[in-house]
Amino acid sequence: MLDPTLLTTLQEAQSLLCISHVNPDGDAVGSLLGMGWLLRRLHKDPVLALQDVPPPEFAWMPGMETLLTAQSPAYQQAVRETPFDVVVCLDASSQDRMGNAYNPSVHGSAPLIVIDHHVTNTYFGHINWVDTGCAATCQMVAYLAQALGVPLEGELAECLLTGLVTDTLCFRTSNTDERVLAVATQLVQGGANLAQITERTINRRPFSLLRLWGLVLPRVRLEDRVIWTTVSQSQLQEAGHRSHDTHLSSLLITADEADISAVFLEKAMDDGVPAVECSFRAKPGFDVSRIALQLGGGGHPPASGCTVSGTLEEVAARVVPLLQEARRAQAIHREQSIRDTA
Ligand code: 5GP
Ligand code: MN
Ligand code: MN
Repeated sequence: MLDPTLLTTLQEAQSLLCISHVNPDGDAVGSLLGMGWLLRRLHKDPVLALQDVPPPEFAWMPGMETLLTAQSPAYQQAVRETPFDVVVCLDASSQDRMGNAYNPSVHGSAPLIVIDHHVTNTYFGHINWVDTGCAATCQMVAYLAQALGVPLEGELAECLLTGLVTDTLCFRTSNTDERVLAVATQLVQGGANLAQITERTINRRPFSLLRLWGLVLPRVRLEDRVIWTTVSQSQLQEAGHRSHDTHLSSLLITADEADISAVFLEKAMDDGVPAVECSFRAKPGFDVSRIALQLGGGGHPPASGCTVSGTLEEVAARVVPLLQEARRAQAIHREQSIRDTA
């Protein structure tokens, strides 16, 4: 049952601002564009904003031209001219994840609705709908559409299925349950093209990424069932890979001998302070979200991340032992619970 306050707040809003997270993935873009299509069906004209431009594999998504980046003159103008009476935040576990698309001193007086599926969500909104049982925020937007009487069809279905496909790695993650498949079926019945979405977002990758994997894989380390590697700015340049989306942590966790994977990616130094983006994955039964949260980030038990200040070497030397320690503790706990239930 959906919170009636959430539904009436959305229904009564005249001018809405919808925002998703920095470095947007398919679920961020899909839930944001999907929310746009849903609200337009309710005869509203929301502003859709992101801090960062979405990666090129999502350029084809319907409504992409309506997305504004926070830096764009159109967004600056909208913020100056429109007193938003509701802000909706999608697929972000904490306020900082909206980056500069959300300015508390400008938007803080409007009610903030949070719609998210991260276990690390900090409940930072006025209305918080957090469902960790959903595999994607797009799944939640599908339930929202149904509660508001909006059919799951056309562009809305296309955008929502994209987020479901990307967050579940095409229905391969362990949280792909009957409800996920039921929503996906409805979206396909509504006209979403599963084969095309999969082809565009999962089956293809730029050659520069394969070159990067070629540079990075020879230096992968595996110790205490934690598999990890580093990616430097010079490797990104040598490979000609512009995006910092490397999909390497998902690749590394496929190793049979590992329970946890980590990729440490050197951030471009804009302000002279070295920092590293960390991406973690875990096999079913292991949890990397708590470590990411401890380090100032967040995510899900099997997939999480954070940004830590320091050089690549410093951050890896600090974080890998934390992962090994957590993995050992979780393995012992798992064995105990298996014995207890035997
Ligand atoms: P990825 O490894 O694909 O970048 O991110 C995996 C998951 O971790 C995603 O659900 C993403 O939302 C979350 N995540 C990644 N980096 C951060 C971060 O810096 N802060 C928070 N709160 N979550 C993050
Ligand atoms: Mn996301
Ligand atoms: Mn998500």
